[in-house]
Amino acid sequence: MKMSHKMQKPESRATIYLDANASEVSRPEARAAMLAAFDLVGNPASVHGAGRQARALLEDARDAVAGRFGGAAGDLVFTSGGTEADALAIHALGAGRRVIIGATEHDAIRAAAPGAVILRVDGNGVADLDQLADLLADGPALVCLMLANNETGVIQPIAEAAAICRRLGARLHVDAVQAAGRMKVDLMALGADSLALSGHKLGGSMGVGALLTAPGVDIAALIKGGGQERGRRGGTPALPAIAGFAACAGISDLGDQRDRFAVAASACGAIEIGAGAPRLGNTACLALPGVKAETQVIALDLAGIQVSAGAACSSGKVARSHVLDAMGLGALAGEAIRVSLPWNMTATEIDCAIDAYRAMAARLRPGMAA
Ligand code: PLP
Repeated sequence: MKMSHKMQKPESRATIYLDANASEVSRPEARAAMLAAFDLVGNPASVHGAGRQARALLEDARDAVAGRFGGAAGDLVFTSGGTEADALAIHALGAGRRVIIGATEHDAIRAAAPGAVILRVDGNGVADLDQLADLLADGPALVCLMLANNETGVIQPIAEAAAICRRLGARLHVDAVQAAGRMKVDLMALGADSLALSGHKLGGSMGVGALLTAPGVDIAALIKGGGQERGRRGGTPALPAIAGFAACAGISDLGDQRDRFAVAASACGAIEIGAGAPRLGNTACLALPGVKAETQVIALDLAGIQVSAGAACSSGKVARSHVLDAMGLGALAGEAIRVSLPWNMTATEIDCAIDAYRAMAARLRPGMAA
């Protein structure tokens, strides 16, 4: 009998979660702020005292998030997440312009710009800035480039891309969903026109995010509703989620914890994807030649190690990764898993995960079976 989602029991044995790029482990600071905000009565739009108290919390959160990412509070719109922030940016900044997107952008961008021109990437997943300059010679455009990739952790040369965009009159939207909290992210230092952020990738709640824009960028609403967010995004703001987002927005993990795992995996025959480019310190994309990614994910899951393969689509199946395809990886694109370490990873847990990977590779690699 097919089990419905409802019937599935939660895991009872100890597991090690190495899928922070899918959703970061929640932060205690976020939890505390969310619970406190949930206990508040009142809608930030109401004029009475309770409403004003809710409003004050909302505006404090706006100050905190905008300040943390190098923008002004008046230029920050809270959204339902990174997907909506990306869609709002394309709607508002891309109106009347061609949209050019990097070949490895997240589906949040790809689906919001179906007719976009695709900017190619090299074998490490880094955008081709010579091609960008050529494409921009053809007239006004909005360029969408992610700061760090969700599957490989590869970091794009955003400041250089921004300089090209400025010189050639293009706007630049940066999806900083994965980068935030894992490297320095500053809208003005990057030279971008807008940044997309997501609460649950920082250790806050799912269902909250923000679009932060540079001074002077107008935002026409995608969702109109009751004129909240100064007419830029209708709907009562998700105050507890916003409070949690603000509480963890200031926290960064700049460490590089990934390498011990990646070195051990490489010794088992794994190939580290994107290793020739700068990457997030928590992410490794590892291909094991001859072993399907889905098989690796299942084998590791049975050993209590939770990783993902390519882009996990919403049905829970493993979809072929357009990111790895764009990098020209051929068959390896179907043999790569993503290991993304959460902020609270311990050395002991990494040791256990390495042991499980070694056992998996020894069992599954062609010609390695005992
Ligand atoms: N952009 C990137 C790079 C992502 O990795 C994700 C989520 O995985 C999103 C956007 C979408 O963010 P959200 O889950 O908040 O809608």
